[in-house]
Amino acid sequence: MFREMRRKKQQLGEEECLSILDEATSGVLSVLGDDGYPYGVPLSFVRIGATLVFHCAATGHKTDAVKAHPQASFTVVAQDDVVPSEYNTHYRSVIAFGRVRIVEDRDEKMALLRSLGERYWPGHDDELEAEIAPRFDHMHVLAFEIEHLTGKQSLALMH
Ligand SMILES: Cc1cc2nc3c(=O)[nH]c(=O)nc-3n(C[C@H](O)[C@H](O)[C@H](O)COP(=O)(O)OP(=O)(O)OC[C@H]3O[C@@H](n4cnc5c(N)ncnc54)[C@H](O)[C@@H]3O)c2cc1C
Repeated sequence: MFREMRRKKQQLGEEECLSILDEATSGVLSVLGDDGYPYGVPLSFVRIGATLVFHCAATGHKTDAVKAHPQASFTVVAQDDVVPSEYNTHYRSVIAFGRVRIVEDRDEKMALLRSLGERYWPGHDDELEAEIAPRFDHMHVLAFEIEHLTGKQSLALMH
């Protein structure tokens, strides 16, 4: 049911896609928002295997959206070098499709939050625990299970 890329020559392999996800510090989570309007919201994340992990408030537009429709996509732009004389941009990007679940199990939620925090400020366990503890019950952790992953780069970047 997922589409093939039309310009196959520009398609990146899975390892390159995963590297782009691992190097990016944020991406855009796209969900089915209110009244059929798609809602793309920028978020920090960490990848653990085939799962993308986000944290967010327990209420709000994105939380309501994923509760109603778990299907989502997540887009990362890794490179966007505008080349004016070509009226073009040299780009690399990744799009993941999957389903989002709100993590209910407290141990799993804590482990995923630690992974998220560790990614952005490695080696500061005490600070991380102090950050999480007062917020733990008031936040959600979202686990986005990747079902389909594609990456694309502009022809100019092909070697
Ligand atoms: C690089 C980056 C990383 C971020 N990382 C995180 C993260 O890890 N966790 C997290 O919870 N939040 C993060 N944010 C903030 C995030 O984008 C949302 O603002 C936040 O999660 C609230 O989302 P919501 O749907 O609950 O907002 P709500 O306040 O419920 O949204 C209501 C409306 O406000 C507007 N809105 C909400 N967020 C934005 C926005 N970012 N820009 C413009 N309009 C907006 C939209 O019109 C939306 O329909 C990040 C933002 C950026 C730019």
